[in-house]
Amino acid sequence: MQRFGHVIGPTCGNASSTRWLPVFDPATAQPVAEVAAGDASTVTTAIAAASAAAPAWAALRHSERARHLERLADALEARLDAFAHAEAVDAGKPLGLARDIEIPRAVSNLRFFAHAATQFSSESHHGEAGLNYTLRQPLGVVACISPWNLPLYLFTWKIAPALAAGNTVVAKPSEITPATATLLGELALEIGLPPGVLNIVHGLGPEVGEPLVSHAQVKAVSFTGSTTVGRRIAGITGPLLKKVSLELGGKNATLVFADSDWRAQLDTLVRSAFQNSGQICLCGSRVLVERSLYAEFRDAFVERARALRLGAPLDAGTQLGPMVSQAHFNKVMAAIDRARTEGGRVLCGGEAVDRPGWFIAPTVLEGLGPDCATNREEIFGPVVTLQAFDDDNDALTLANASDYGLVASVWTRDLTRAHRLAAQLRTGIVWINTWLMRDLRTPFGGTNASGLGREGGLEAMRFFSETRNVCIALPPQIFQA
Ligand code: NAD
Repeated sequence: MQRFGHVIGPTCGNASSTRWLPVFDPATAQPVAEVAAGDASTVTTAIAAASAAAPAWAALRHSERARHLERLADALEARLDAFAHAEAVDAGKPLGLARDIEIPRAVSNLRFFAHAATQFSSESHHGEAGLNYTLRQPLGVVACISPWNLPLYLFTWKIAPALAAGNTVVAKPSEITPATATLLGELALEIGLPPGVLNIVHGLGPEVGEPLVSHAQVKAVSFTGSTTVGRRIAGITGPLLKKVSLELGGKNATLVFADSDWRAQLDTLVRSAFQNSGQICLCGSRVLVERSLYAEFRDAFVERARALRLGAPLDAGTQLGPMVSQAHFNKVMAAIDRARTEGGRVLCGGEAVDRPGWFIAPTVLEGLGPDCATNREEIFGPVVTLQAFDDDNDALTLANASDYGLVASVWTRDLTRAHRLAAQLRTGIVWINTWLMRDLRTPFGGTNASGLGREGGLEAMRFFSETRNVCIALPPQIFQA
């Protein structure tokens, strides 16, 4: 059975741990591998390796750090098929999704931040009080903790800016999907990334994650995962006054207006609800439809949802895979049961699929108001509710009726309405007539229960840097032409 060990300093592999946890294939519910189960001493060793590597890594020219990241991106791209296969088996996601979208995005993350390393600059201020310039320096050792839903995509989205900004990293991928992060750690050593620059520790959150975020030598914590764990990390790091970035859950609204090109965009609308079986923080799980369009839209949407092909992740043509774990399957099934008791009408799905593995049929519900738990709590599965609205204000009220604030998508041909709603929706991202369209330079993150801080582009480079103002006493006149 394959084993995914820690990657600490120059060592990786079986010898890296004495305790192991099972890793399951979600499509068969069978154990297929094992992952190292670290503890506080594993974390201490990894932080020591990262600390030892930090001065030399920080002292490199930006262009040299960029070359390391470029080499890693090239090596990952050259092994794209193997990584996509590993991701599909580990997370139960369709191979096409891993091969065409997620692993290529991991390559792009590494390349993008390689370029960012060479483009990162700082400001100067003069003419008012002396000559000021801003130093942006590496922090030292930083922690990156990522979830199971987009394993390598989100892992690289964190480690790439952290490394580009000159920090060394101790990263913890999800214990549920450890494969591709481990393979990337091994690849990093293979292409000559100095040992200790990127360390990967595996194990359970309380046993590995908590010692990591609370360690005195960890200067910043970048976390993506559930709001519950995000709050716990905020509680630990707050009194320690550590920098923290939290990308948390969502309960996103999709606003469909009668004047939109919804028929032409139906594929994207359905994808926005069900991609990766709804296990993407950006999926729209509350679909709000203008009342005049409601019945027509509902029937077309349900027909398309029913036609989605569930299947084994490695089978060509599979559009939806299983839930990632038994625990998550149970959670989503319980949410569907709760929706029924809250009075929801199941228009399609609503049940597990009769085959091995943790498959749930795409489920569309109607008849539920904005205050019920189904419409307020994140389900993170293939479960969507439909609600009708009467006008722009009604749509906005329904969309904002959430403790979360990650993303919203607005589907309309009326640009004035689109701009007005974009300014009034309480989310970190608003997509107009599109979904999951990403320019990596843009700020990414949510409001309220969806998190704290922003990733992406300069936001990420600045998060992973210490800022210092240097002020030189000079009279303002010296700057006159
Ligand atoms: P999770 O919070 O259970 O786990 C995320 C990571 O944190 C894992 O590596 C886990 O081992 C670790 N962890 C768990 N407990 C910890 C603790 N006490 N201290 C430190 N680390 C700990 O989340 P998950 O189930 O893996 O992922 C699903 C969640 O992630 C959903 O809520 C989803 O919305 C969210 N998510 C958010 C974004 C975003 O960008 N906002 C992206 C993807 C996923």
